Amino acid sequence: MSTLPQPLSTDRSELLRRLAEPVQYDIAIVGGGATGLGVALDAAVRGLRVVLIDSHDFAEGTSSRSTKLVHGGVRYLAQGNIALVREALHERTLLLQNAPYLAQPLPFVMPTYHWWEKPFYGAGLKMYDLLAGRAGLGSTQLLSREQTLEQLPTLLSLGLKGGVKYWDGQFNDARLALVLARTAALQGALLVNYCRATELAYENSKVAGLVCEDQLTGQTLHVRARCVVNATGVWVDELRQKDGAAVPGRSDGVTPAIVAPSQGVHMVVNREFLDSNVALMVPKTADGRVLFAVPWLGKVILGTTDTPRHDLAREPLPFAEEIDFILRESARYLRRAPLRSDVKSVWVGLRPLVKTTKDEGNNTKALSREHTILVSRSGLVTVTGGKWTTYRAMAEDVLAKCAQVNLIPASRSGVTKNLCLMGVGEPPALIRPIFEAPGWHSYGLEQDFIRSLPGATDEMCPGLTEGMVRFAARYEYAVTAEDVLARRARLLFLDARLASDLAASVGKILQEETGYDPQIDDFKILADQYLLKYDKNL
Ligand SMILES: Cc1cc2nc3c(=O)[nH]c(=O)nc-3n(C[C@H](O)[C@H](O)[C@H](O)COP(=O)(O)OP(=O)(O)OC[C@H]3O[C@@H](n4cnc5c(N)ncnc54)[C@H](O)[C@@H]3O)c2cc1C
Repeated sequence: MSTLPQPLSTDRSELLRRLAEPVQYDIAIVGGGATGLGVALDAAVRGLRVVLIDSHDFAEGTSSRSTKLVHGGVRYLAQGNIALVREALHERTLLLQNAPYLAQPLPFVMPTYHWWEKPFYGAGLKMYDLLAGRAGLGSTQLLSREQTLEQLPTLLSLGLKGGVKYWDGQFNDARLALVLARTAALQGALLVNYCRATELAYENSKVAGLVCEDQLTGQTLHVRARCVVNATGVWVDELRQKDGAAVPGRSDGVTPAIVAPSQGVHMVVNREFLDSNVALMVPKTADGRVLFAVPWLGKVILGTTDTPRHDLAREPLPFAEEIDFILRESARYLRRAPLRSDVKSVWVGLRPLVKTTKDEGNNTKALSREHTILVSRSGLVTVTGGKWTTYRAMAEDVLAKCAQVNLIPASRSGVTKNLCLMGVGEPPALIRPIFEAPGWHSYGLEQDFIRSLPGATDEMCPGLTEGMVRFAARYEYAVTAEDVLARRARLLFLDARLASDLAASVGKILQEETGYDPQIDDFKILADQYLLKYDKNL
């Protein structure tokens, strides 16, 4: 029988009251995506006094918009980046082990159309198996034409020679982020969303804290901390440049940007288009890109793109060319070509790729996908880049760097390697596939607790009950309809029309629970964007 901790209340007035207390934190983290949350959890487990703030909701940036793969990175293997692949494969195992209800193994099939592709890709993927060693999830298999069609029944058979099957993992990114936040809170960290870091505070030219602003009331708060970590993803340059202006690191006083954002678009269609629990992976499309069709939470994700961008929009729009690329390439592989009218949701994420100072970032495929940690003259620690899969290892690297420059005491690493996250229980239990549409399985063992809340089983739509919305408001930091429908229930990503239709009823419950404006109209506008309704020409 697994034991489970009682969920902690995320009542906002209490969180803000604590944030306003004159506490000297060991570490203050700006940014509540995969990177910042990973650091917060690791630091809290080490016994440090931790505070984390995010200007928006947790995972509202890039961390809810990934392809949802827990992967070693077959692509990086092709680039010869063995160390990166080995580390990611190791981290893949830990993630699947520590959050089994949010992450699971996933088989992929790469169809082949030329005689040389099967031995070529087969050899590469056998190497992937070798690098994984005991962390392997299944052996790479060479498939005949018939076997390939058995695995992917909706694959077009014209010209098909066979396929290669290999294993990686997939996960529910935004829910994992929330579970990291809640696990860190359970370890004593204070985490507050909708609280923006507006300025850094200094003592003797060293960073000594933050000035932040509650985005819902406009209240200004001061946070004192020995170490400040800037984990703001594609937005890291904003704080870096403020810091550079306050304590110049270079004689010309200029702090060059390090992030070259690259946009990735995903599109969601109904499960029938793939009709399999096996993902399709095309390593080289007609124009040399990668295409995935991945079963996820009862639907199929198609994507992605890698397009340089020069702005840092919170809700970037897809380019018409990106939509055409995904639909056109999907039609080359799937028996039923998805049309624009089949699309249930389109979302866009920005990759925080790190450039060298001379690089203007126009060729994003060549930029580093590893993470970068920098310490400024004032002691501001900036971390960006990397990927979701390696969030835990990144957190260890960040804390090692902070200790190396004497911002925090040195301590043993590896403390989160076997740390089960909220909803898992001790010993770990409940392994459930996330191929199914969202529902009780999304909560792991906490579903029993949710069943005790008012309206626990009153369904608002299949898989979302009134009790789940109350749980989101009371224990998962949710304030707005978007918080619930985009990142807790995932409906905005799966079916934006349905999400829009539910906004008013979800908002009503949230307002009852929190007293804050659930911002229903804003959410409906956003849902229209995810349905590509803003531009008839797209
Ligand atoms: C299209 C795409 C597909 C991907 N697919 C995968 C995948 O399948 N598997 C994988 O492992 N990785 C994948 N990645 C990579 C992964 O998603 C990212 O590396 C990761 O999410 C980055 O997390 P982050 O915390 O650094 O950034 P973010 O998630 O963007 O978090 C930064 C946070 O900082 C906050 N912030 C910004 N400014 C301030 C401020 N002044 N004050 C307070 N808060 C602030 C933001 O609101 C935001 O929440 C993908 C990335 C993209 C773009």
